[in-house]
Amino acid sequence: MYWNEEIETIDRSNLKKLQLKRLQGTVRILYEKVPFYQNKFKELGITPEDIKSLDDVRKLPFTTREDLRDNYPYGLLAVSRDKIVRLHTSSGTTGKPKAIFFSKNDINQSAELIARCLIMTGVTKDDVLQNMMTYGLFTGALVMHYGAEKVGILVIPAGPGNTERQIALMQDFGSTCLHLTPSYALYLSEVMESKGIKPKRDLSLKRAYLGAEPYSEETRKKLESMFEIDIYNSYGLSEMNGPGVAFECICKNGMHIWEDNFLVEILDPSSDEPVKEGQEGELVLTTLCREGMPLLRYRTKDITKVISGDCPCGRTHRRISRILGRVDDMFIVRGVNIFPQQIERVLMSIKGVAQNYQILLESYDKLSVKVEIEQDFFDGSIEHLLNLKTKITEKLKSEILVTPKVELVEPGTLPISEGKLNRVIDKRTL
Ligand code: AMP
Ligand code: ZN
Repeated sequence: MYWNEEIETIDRSNLKKLQLKRLQGTVRILYEKVPFYQNKFKELGITPEDIKSLDDVRKLPFTTREDLRDNYPYGLLAVSRDKIVRLHTSSGTTGKPKAIFFSKNDINQSAELIARCLIMTGVTKDDVLQNMMTYGLFTGALVMHYGAEKVGILVIPAGPGNTERQIALMQDFGSTCLHLTPSYALYLSEVMESKGIKPKRDLSLKRAYLGAEPYSEETRKKLESMFEIDIYNSYGLSEMNGPGVAFECICKNGMHIWEDNFLVEILDPSSDEPVKEGQEGELVLTTLCREGMPLLRYRTKDITKVISGDCPCGRTHRRISRILGRVDDMFIVRGVNIFPQQIERVLMSIKGVAQNYQILLESYDKLSVKVEIEQDFFDGSIEHLLNLKTKITEKLKSEILVTPKVELVEPGTLPISEGKLNRVIDKRTL
């Protein structure tokens, strides 16, 4: 099933023509309307006429997070103020926020992308979506909400938190789909378990959309078996109008990125050169349909790779892998580059490990990991506990090449979050 079959299965040569036309249009508008880009074009000695092919995107300037902050609040608007109908700001950052503006068309367009995503996972009008992302300045909840309404399904604007009420809502209204962060999903599953709720027996859940923070394939599998549902990865960022940028189809093998709306580059973050197809690099996106605040070559800092080959679902928009980390998430211990994702992957594959963990960086040569383990293990024999600790330490060492100090803790000990959770405590920079 498609929401918009013509565009979702568009022939790639036609897609490229469409992209070029839209890129040229976007560049022209920015050149005429946005002083920030006018200056950048001048510095680079280019004009819109220089963009003759899609490869010419590489002549264009990058846009960074700092550029958004420096131009706060209204500096990057490409239309007059009266055409803007909604403001969001980006979450999870310190200091000056980034302002994100939507025109009426932008609201429509982002809802259109969500509609494609939902239908792609098998949603029908009979579905009930419980939206457990944060409503407010964060794009996550509202953009999903508008898209789900566009499809015509019942949306419950639950927001996060109040877990007992969430479960009651699922029971009373027969929620079939959930939208939430992976860390909240882990917590929710723990609460359900403690209340003796068996999802298949007691609820109507079919699928959940997890996004807003990185999580591993192992976490997906763990959650799928706990909730007894399908879990789909949902990727987006405020700077690109929130969720709906890339989403998994029913094949669950990478996320289709909507290339009629976003021009995709994957660059080596150290050289800024494109990586070979299939290799990891930083995702850099140019908006192709945005009206209020188009952005050229936005450096997402998210690391991913293109999954080659055609998708059996028939969509021609390329797939990207789950986010493998963020360029600035990486930390160095004893000279080794480590991503938190590597640690999560190992932990979630070990039997006895529960939902939560925390990474502590105390010095440049010491890494500690606190790991919640299942209550049965905690209450069991010391010998079992020590064996588990040794197993975790060894498996982590073989993945990250540094021996961590592992501490096992009871479930429910470590902080949880209803929004984005930061599991790395870097005491070296505090
Ligand atoms: P925000 O600006 O608050 O919308 O956050 C966007 C950031 O959240 C992205 O740049 C990613 O780093 C992260 N993010 C969003 N969705 C996912 C996902 N499915 N997997 C991993 N990270 C994600
Ligand atoms: Zn597909």
